[in-house]
Amino acid sequence: MTTERVAVIGTGPAALMAAEVITGAGLGVDIYEAMPSAGRKFLMAGKSGLNISHIGSHEDFAAQYQDHDGRLRDCLRAFGPEDVVQWMDGLGMPAHTGPTGRIFPQSMKASPLLRAWLRRLEGRGARLHLKHRWTSWDDEGALVLNAPEGRVVVRPAATVFALGGGSWRRLGSDGEWTAPFAEAGIPVTRFRPSNCGFLVDWSDRMRDAFAGAPVKGVRLSAAGRETREELTITARGVESGGIYTLSAPLRDAIETDGSATLWLDLLPDLEASGIVRRLAAAPAKQSLSNRLRKALKLTGVKAALLFECADRGALKHSEDAAKAIKALPLRLTGAAPLDEAISTAGGVAWDALDANFMLTGKPGHFCAGEMIAWDAPTGGYLITACMATGRAAGAGVLAWLARERSGVSRQL
Ligand SMILES: Cc1cc2nc3c(=O)[nH]c(=O)nc-3n(C[C@H](O)[C@H](O)[C@H](O)COP(=O)(O)OP(=O)(O)OC[C@H]3O[C@@H](n4cnc5c(N)ncnc54)[C@H](O)[C@@H]3O)c2cc1C
Repeated sequence: MTTERVAVIGTGPAALMAAEVITGAGLGVDIYEAMPSAGRKFLMAGKSGLNISHIGSHEDFAAQYQDHDGRLRDCLRAFGPEDVVQWMDGLGMPAHTGPTGRIFPQSMKASPLLRAWLRRLEGRGARLHLKHRWTSWDDEGALVLNAPEGRVVVRPAATVFALGGGSWRRLGSDGEWTAPFAEAGIPVTRFRPSNCGFLVDWSDRMRDAFAGAPVKGVRLSAAGRETREELTITARGVESGGIYTLSAPLRDAIETDGSATLWLDLLPDLEASGIVRRLAAAPAKQSLSNRLRKALKLTGVKAALLFECADRGALKHSEDAAKAIKALPLRLTGAAPLDEAISTAGGVAWDALDANFMLTGKPGHFCAGEMIAWDAPTGGYLITACMATGRAAGAGVLAWLARERSGVSRQL
């Protein structure tokens, strides 16, 4: 059956934004979702505060992304942090900016925003079909879906895929779409964990005493990038916001060299010379632990990290101890499993898409969101890029349909 309606597959932020653009132009949209309810990963992202965007100039904002060429930057120029705030206002969900520039809805949660968004789309004529999993194209190029009533075949006027990346599969983003895409000859690069934890060979002592402990007031660095966000010790390694920020270069180093070094500055507010002075002034008869505690207030998990990662012999000399405290190497032996990553790099290759996010090998089929091969840290950058690419794909559909129709009318 050919319909004059457009199919949007997925109910994450990329899909809903594409549906918004298309319904905004007065076209009918059918939204298909494999799961029994909409936007499960988006809702999970909002569980501890939906960090939907991040303030900053376009240049600073765009510099956070790893992408193939300028297309993602163009999308973000057309729909960046200020547009996200305006768009939220339009949904009756005013924004709140945190002290580090992160943008949230005032309610902090994703659920009221998702509800209002779906209501607006349904009010514009979008129809939501839950438990409809897209599986493949048939021989005529129609979409084949598995639905509660069985196999459903639809031939929409155009299709937007926004099927997500390859992590947290229980929320729907299982990456199974890569198989039919590859079968259709669409280049897809393998998923790699991003914004993920890492593995460390902790000593039993370190693991038993400090698994779950946050390490605050540190500076973390890797491959020329640094952050003052904290990290958390886990039973198998390290996790949390600071680690996510550095996860792309750490992951890349592990893939190339088999391990990576995360550098910790345990006392970022003290110069090395100040540390040497304070340690040298402490009575020599005191134990090293006592000198660290009394002279530098270096105790608990921070002191344990120093003893775990530094050469104990070197810590006897104030200069060497200061060096270790300012640049402590923590060896990461691997990334945590892909399914646990907050997001994934990899997916549909940029070469497979034209300037309007249409698959060059499949005219009328567009892609958006995390399923495209770009990478970014958390902090609102992921969702903003999903919405921005959703908008671009939606606009691409409208432009393509207009061209197709003018071609048809010229032929008549
Ligand atoms: C715990 C957690 C916290 C996060 N926090 C943040 C944050 O604070 N800020 C931020 O920017 N990002 C955050 N993210 C990441 C963010 O949620 C994702 O990047 C974003 O949801 C991706 O949007 P998307 O629309 O591309 O895909 P998704 O949101 O993954 O949606 C894809 C949808 O497609 C459906 N689907 C998949 N295959 C099929 C199929 N074959 N047929 C039909 N439907 C299908 C899925 O069920 C799913 O609903 C977080 C992620 C997690 C897991």
